[in-house]
Amino acid sequence: MADLDVTTMSDLTREAALAMDVADPLAAFVDEFDLPAGVIYLNGNSLGPAPKEALAKVRTAAQDEWRTGLITSWNKAGWFELPYRLGDRVARLVGAAPGEVTVSDGTSINLFRVVCAALSLRPDRKVIVMEGSNFPTDNYVVQGLCETLGRGHTIRFAEKDELEAAITDDVACVVLTEVHYKTAHILDMAGITAKAHAVGALAVWDLCHSAGAMPVDLNGCEADFAVGCTYKYLNGGPGSPAFQFVAARHREGLKQPLTGWWGHEAPFAFDRDYAPAAGIGRMLTGTQPILSLSAAEAGLDLAERAGPERARAKSRALGELFQDLLAGRLKDTGFAMGSPADRAERGGHIALEHDHGYPFMKALISRGVIGDFRAPTTMRFGFSPLYLRYVDVWDAVEILRDIVESEAWRAPEFAAVDAVT
Ligand SMILES: *Cc1c(COP(=O)(O)O)cnc(C)c1O
Repeated sequence: MADLDVTTMSDLTREAALAMDVADPLAAFVDEFDLPAGVIYLNGNSLGPAPKEALAKVRTAAQDEWRTGLITSWNKAGWFELPYRLGDRVARLVGAAPGEVTVSDGTSINLFRVVCAALSLRPDRKVIVMEGSNFPTDNYVVQGLCETLGRGHTIRFAEKDELEAAITDDVACVVLTEVHYKTAHILDMAGITAKAHAVGALAVWDLCHSAGAMPVDLNGCEADFAVGCTYKYLNGGPGSPAFQFVAARHREGLKQPLTGWWGHEAPFAFDRDYAPAAGIGRMLTGTQPILSLSAAEAGLDLAERAGPERARAKSRALGELFQDLLAGRLKDTGFAMGSPADRAERGGHIALEHDHGYPFMKALISRGVIGDFRAPTTMRFGFSPLYLRYVDVWDAVEILRDIVESEAWRAPEFAAVDAVT
C-alpha cells in the first residue's frame, strides 16, 4: 500500500511517544476530562467525552437553577439568552461575528431551516448541489424539503472532483460538508464558495466534523450559511444542541419556515401573528433544551482555550503518528487508507479499510480502544486533540497489531452485529 509507507516515525518507541506528550502544549487539557480508566477513546469525532466542567454545569443547572430557581431561572440564570451567548462563543471558533450564530435545536433541523432560507434568497433557481456520499441526514433533509416546498427543486449530486462542473448558473445553493464523515477529506470552502458566488449561487456549509478540530473561517470564505453539531469535537454531550450561522449581510428580511414564538420580535407579547425578530433571533423556533445547552458551554470553553490552530496541529500530528506506526507494524496485513494519505487533505479522523473491519473494531473495543465502524469495511479512528496523548496512539496501534497477529478477532463474539455501530 503506497499510503502506508514506512517513515522515520514508524519505529518510534513508546518512550519517544511519552516524550512527545511531555512536550505537548495541550497536554494539560486531558485533566479537564472525566475519561473512564482503561479506555483509549478514538471516537471523539462521533461523540466527544465528558468535560468535568460539563458534569458540574449540568448539576448546577438542574439543582440550583431548575430545582431551586424554578421558573425565575429564565431571567435570573440567563436561560433565555443561552442560544445567543453560546452562539457568540461558537462564532469565535468558526470565523463568524457576534450575532451571526445561535446554538439551538439539532443539525438536521438547522439544516432544514438554513437551506430554506437560502432558497428564499434565490427564488428563480431550483437546483441544489450536494455531495451524494455526505452523511445521509443532510441528503434526507434536503430531499424532504424539496418535496415539502413542492416548487420543483431538485438535488444535483456530485462527488468531490465533480463539484466544480456541477456548480452552474441554474444552481440556487450548494449544501456541502467541509470534512467528510467517512473519509475525512476536506473540501475547499473558500474555493467552492467563490465558485458558487461567481455563478450567482449561495453556499451552505455543514461543519459537523470541522468545528473544534480545525480552524474555520466562515466570513473569510464569505460563506452564506452554516450548521454544525457540538457533540463531536466540541464535546458538548450526547444530543447537545447544534449551531446555525447566517452571514450578517443576509439577516435583514431573511425568511425561514419554522416560525415559532422564540423567533418572534416580541415573544412575551403573545401576539396572534408572527413577526420576525430583528437579527439572528428570527432563526429560532421554540423552547430550547436548557440542561443540554448548559452542559455544552463547558466544551466550548475548552475549545476556545485550546484554540483551533493548536487543536488542528495536534490532531494532525496524532493522526500522522497513527498512520506511520501502522505502516511500521501492520504493513502487509491487508489495511488500506480510506482517507487522503496526505494529512493536510484530511480532517480529524482516519478511515482504515479492511475486509475484517467489523470484527477488528469489536475486538479493539473489547480491549478498551474505542473507534467505530461504517459499513461495509471502514474503521474510523478519531484524533480529537484535547484529551488524547501520543502514547495512547502508540498503545492503540500495538493493541491492533496484537489482535491481528494473534487472530484474537476471530472469536465468535466479535462477528455478531450490534444495533449501533
Ligand atoms: C454528525 C453529522 C450530522 C448530525 O446530525 P444530527 O441532526 O445531529 O443527528 C449531520 N451532518 C453531518 C455531516 C454529520 O457529520
